[in-house]
Amino acid sequence: MPLDLHYSCPRCGGILEVIYDYAALDKSEAVATFTKSTLTSLWRFAPLLPVGEAANRISLGEGNTPLLLAERLGKKLGVTSLHLKNEGTNPTASFKDRPTSVGISVAKELGATRVIIASSGNAGAAAAAYAARGGLSCVVVMPQGTPIGKVAQAVSCGARVIYTRGSYSSSYKLALDSSAAFGWANLTSTFLNPYTVEGDKTVAFEIWEQLGRRVPDWVIIPIGAGPLLVGTLKGFDELRMLGLTDGVPGMIGVQSEAVHPVADAFASGEEVVKEWYGSTKTVSSGIADPLVGYPQDGTLTLNAIKKTHGQCLIAPDKVAIALGRTLAETEGVFVEPTSAIGIYAVGELKTAGIIRSSDTVVVVLTGHGLKTPDAYTGFSEEPPIADSPKVLRSIIESEPQPNLLHGR
Ligand SMILES: *Cc1c(COP(=O)(O)O)cnc(C)c1O
Repeated sequence: MPLDLHYSCPRCGGILEVIYDYAALDKSEAVATFTKSTLTSLWRFAPLLPVGEAANRISLGEGNTPLLLAERLGKKLGVTSLHLKNEGTNPTASFKDRPTSVGISVAKELGATRVIIASSGNAGAAAAAYAARGGLSCVVVMPQGTPIGKVAQAVSCGARVIYTRGSYSSSYKLALDSSAAFGWANLTSTFLNPYTVEGDKTVAFEIWEQLGRRVPDWVIIPIGAGPLLVGTLKGFDELRMLGLTDGVPGMIGVQSEAVHPVADAFASGEEVVKEWYGSTKTVSSGIADPLVGYPQDGTLTLNAIKKTHGQCLIAPDKVAIALGRTLAETEGVFVEPTSAIGIYAVGELKTAGIIRSSDTVVVVLTGHGLKTPDAYTGFSEEPPIADSPKVLRSIIESEPQPNLLHGR
């Protein structure tokens, strides 16, 4: 089937996936393009991305994020080769710049002038920025209560932001119905838009390069519907098809205690993921996706995890903030609570003997801490005031400060 703005298979209604003519692809040339390209964005992987014309690429320099060896944190958790893929350094401060850059570029190539997206916050912020960059107009549909930093990004970039009552699923439905009614390109980065996953997969290409052309034992990702996890696995799979690796890592998904339809199916050994009903209120709002109306998206992610002999965990809400602070304190990397729960999985699976101390583990830190500063400042007191070096010193040498690092 040629590229088009399809959101499901016209024949069976199933989820679409982009495939390339891998056999026709000149492997050494593809790899040479990866390594020799002077581009500092994910577009250096263009031979494996679904945009034909370079002129249609809408880019802000996304991707090429650092992979940090976390020695101090690794020591705490008993894992010597613990790496942090810091996606907070992307242009709009979350990994969503990857799926958005690719998705919106395909939309542009197919002639779209307006895009619509449902978002828990970060994807909307990204879509607004990339639409501005590419001269498209953008409508962002978000659940009421979305962290205000993410809303501010979208509004400032000129998007029309619309709230829905209820969970992310209500935003999903409104965006889907509106795109169908008005013919706008839908960038919703669940599995609805098949091109966005192509951006997600570049995380795998970069990890492979940054580990010295090696695949790690485990990759840990906080998941909503799970396209980042599925996309990252697709990236490793493509490296394997190109003959560049033998295997793929075990994929580990982490969901929040508030909303965990995929983890439930994993734990009970069920074949399909069920829609989640009930409250979706959580500090990890980036992954609060109840999949109402599209549980098959969760099933796709479940199958990806199982195929790699991976794991799917549920992280308590209170550890999200505590681990966000631990991460910032030990490694200087400040992430939103949604992202911090990946660290929880390292500790749990190490204790359970599933992750071994010599395993190479990569935790994908999906979004920057400045997205949700109030999640952390709410737990701190205001800094004390000093007006002289003497007072300053007496303060720092007296009681441990009830500040962001030590808390109460
Ligand atoms: C969107 C998002 C996720 C979840 O990614 P999915 O690909 O939708 O499963 C995780 N973390 C953050 C910060 C996000 O914004």
